[in-house]
Amino acid sequence: MNFSELGLAEPILRAVREQGYETPTPIQAQAIPAVLAGGDLLAGAQTGTGKTAGFTLPMLHRLSQAPAPRDARGRIAIRALILTPTRELAAQVEESVRTYGKYLRLSSMVMFGGVGMQPQVDRLRQGVDILVATPGRLLDHHQQGTLDLRHVEIFVLDEADRMLDMGFIHDIKKVLAIVPARKQSLLFSATFSDEIKALADRLLNRPALIEVARRNATADTIAQKVHPVGRERKKELLAKLIRDGDWHQVLVFTRMKHGANRLAEYLNDQGIGAMAIHGNKSQGARTKALAEFKSGELPVLVATDIAARGIDIEELPHVVNFELPNVPEDYVHRIGRTGRAGAQGEAVSLVCLDEEIFLRDIERLIKRSIPREVVPGFEPPPGEKPEPIVLGRMTIGVGGTQRHGSGRPGGSGRPAAPGGGRHDPRRPAPPRPARDVPGVSHAHAAAAPRHDRAGAGHATQPAPHAQPHGRRDAPRPGPRLTQPKR
Ligand code: AMP
Repeated sequence: MNFSELGLAEPILRAVREQGYETPTPIQAQAIPAVLAGGDLLAGAQTGTGKTAGFTLPMLHRLSQAPAPRDARGRIAIRALILTPTRELAAQVEESVRTYGKYLRLSSMVMFGGVGMQPQVDRLRQGVDILVATPGRLLDHHQQGTLDLRHVEIFVLDEADRMLDMGFIHDIKKVLAIVPARKQSLLFSATFSDEIKALADRLLNRPALIEVARRNATADTIAQKVHPVGRERKKELLAKLIRDGDWHQVLVFTRMKHGANRLAEYLNDQGIGAMAIHGNKSQGARTKALAEFKSGELPVLVATDIAARGIDIEELPHVVNFELPNVPEDYVHRIGRTGRAGAQGEAVSLVCLDEEIFLRDIERLIKRSIPREVVPGFEPPPGEKPEPIVLGRMTIGVGGTQRHGSGRPGGSGRPAAPGGGRHDPRRPAPPRPARDVPGVSHAHAAAAPRHDRAGAGHATQPAPHAQPHGRRDAPRPGPRLTQPKR
């Protein structure tokens, strides 16, 4: 199949050709006709599949075919609203809108918090066809009466699972109450928890269901490797890998914000240019770090999971898990930053003894074992004893899970499950067995993909929101209620 067979307007095809895309990715081949047909869509696709163009291209087509309505003041009215969980993703999606819509007479705007309101108010006054926003700031504008969403015809929830993880459900519900009931709604999510299904039920009307690639599968174009190493020598090993490999663009993940800062400082001391991005940094600092990293000026970007969400750098060659994530699905998201849309990439994990349990969970999730390669001179010390990993108020590992400090009521720090069974209430969507979902089927969202309740030991209850709204970069403690078997 090629793009010209999809029925997109010529100016859009021209912009796509300029991007050098030859064939639509599987999500695009299925989503574009479904969205062009005007119906709702429930799409299971993770980042790196080309999902952004999957909804942006047909959206641009539809908007370009109809005259722009005007609001009460005669300004171009907002006809398309795209909600994303993070500022970075919002900026990136809006950039895609501009890229693919460059030969159309449609205007777009990105809106997120952490920057001044007034420039956004001024921009809104000029009239906007397509608004890409994070939920909090969108609602701020609505409350102040600076935003009119009464003309929204197309509504997109991008990375809906991550939005729920981040505690945005109430904001989403508020937005749904503001936008018109009659509209085309598209929901994209990498996983399908009961909560996502409930949201889909509420939002979507007889949606087309599309799912590409088995969830939690890692792309074959990513070479994955584990370097077992002593806890104290990870920094040194990372510096050596960067130097010896002559790596010029490497995204490094840490679990916690202060760890990201310390690592960036260490690398800078070693003469390796690095910056950290996480939720405590100002938006200006985050944007600057990302821009320098994207342009190739900054060789190393150290990020926490939430801050890195949505970072899309074409053909990013190296991703390093300086620390493994305690949530196994985050591993898939992290390494999805490399080897995107067919490009080759390398994902390296520096794993110390304490993290073996995380590694086992990850390998179980991705259904493959990751090759281990000890770097000579960096062998794990023979007598090393496992130590617990502290995640915010949670301690994981040796001695089970314990809570310290005062947690939110009902939040983290649950008692051990009877019988020592594993129970991870934040992540209700365990991997489903591969399912044949060829093409597009039409069904009510009640028939949306089900997650595998038979998966051993997984909770079926919806996730409580470990992430209070606003604390986007807080650690997401994963109560792990079994003792690591060592
Ligand atoms: P996304 O999943 O939307 O974040 O897209 C992942 C990456 O794939 C982005 O860098 C896009 O520029 C790229 N991409 C999107 N569609 C195509 C395509 N049809 N062919 C090649 N690359 C693409």
